[in-house]
Amino acid sequence: MPPFIGQRIYLDHAATTPLDPQVKAAMLPFMEEQFGNPSSLHYWGRQARKALEQARERIANCLNARPNEVVFTSGATEADNLALFGVAEALRGSKKHLVTTQIEHAAVANACRRLEAQGWEVTWLPVDAEGFVSPDELQRAVRPDTALVSIIHGNNEIGAIQPIEQLGEFLKARGVLFHIDAVQTVGKLPLSLADLPVDYLSLSAHKFYGPKGAGALYVREGAPLPAPMLMGGGQENNLRSGTENLAGIVGMAEALALATEMIGTETPRLRALQSRFTEDVLRAVPGAVLNGPREAALRVPGNAHFSFPPGEGEALVLHLDLKGIAVSSGSACHSAVIEPSRIIKALGKADDVARATVRFSMGRSTTEAELDRVISVLPEIVSRFRK
Ligand SMILES: *Cc1c(COP(=O)(O)O)cnc(C)c1O
Repeated sequence: MPPFIGQRIYLDHAATTPLDPQVKAAMLPFMEEQFGNPSSLHYWGRQARKALEQARERIANCLNARPNEVVFTSGATEADNLALFGVAEALRGSKKHLVTTQIEHAAVANACRRLEAQGWEVTWLPVDAEGFVSPDELQRAVRPDTALVSIIHGNNEIGAIQPIEQLGEFLKARGVLFHIDAVQTVGKLPLSLADLPVDYLSLSAHKFYGPKGAGALYVREGAPLPAPMLMGGGQENNLRSGTENLAGIVGMAEALALATEMIGTETPRLRALQSRFTEDVLRAVPGAVLNGPREAALRVPGNAHFSFPPGEGEALVLHLDLKGIAVSSGSACHSAVIEPSRIIKALGKADDVARATVRFSMGRSTTEAELDRVISVLPEIVSRFRK
């Protein structure tokens, strides 16, 4: 466990993860002697270029993709924006319709809202009570003028993992482009892009023990290139100008290699913790509601999401924080806003349930003992704030 977590219990790994010490060590030379700009022709530039392309190769290898399919960005928000705005702009004129879901991360949802304001038609697919998109609904939504379908792979709040293979096979057969936000699944589930029927995929280093501010958009070879959002020196094959965040990118490659190596042990371990914790919460807290899939295998590993109605999730988050337990009331970006969660509303739940949400997200440092400590304080906190 990273020593700075100490006596506190960190259960917010879906918001961000601590930097792995091995990742930090891999990054340090690029903040020190290897400071070159990968676009420079001299010694320092060539060293930097070599490191950049090695990182690209490592990331491609982890995902069974080709290096030329990896476009580095400042994170997944930018990758999502590049996929949505970039593909929409590239296909503007011939297409005018987009399909997404009601449970997207804000980086996709708000990009789609802007595209809607710009005249694109957007179909917001509903999900079922557990958070799954129905292949039938998708089939009904797709039209000849659909430019792109964008669906979150593992939901960052309720943890639902969508049947991407099934959805993608249908889209591939129809010739419709498919983007997935895989931020919550990369490094937790084995993903082979040579086999997955997706054209674009977003990932972010800080969700798998890498640094913040580094991410990538996978762009399948042969798929239309998104129009660039940043204009400048033409880096990243003209798709993303700006001097590359080399330390961050090297760290992202190291982090993904490590996470990929650990999937075989860490994912089953998290699933076991998650299942036990879920049973314990439902047993210990009267009236607790599990949100998202019941089956652990269909959830993001380590995700447990509940409502404790009536009351506000934010209040519970603050009470738990006083006990040294860090959780989220949904997605971190919304923690300051006390509104019913749009994700929980999309599951068809009432406002009081959608306001009383708490997400526990486990990670490498999480132990059974920590979860037992949470269970030992949770019922009392919930009953106190219900009054
Ligand atoms: C964290 C997250 C993002 C945003 O990633 P950043 O790198 O922080 O911009 C996008 N989508 C999902 C599902 C996320 O969990």
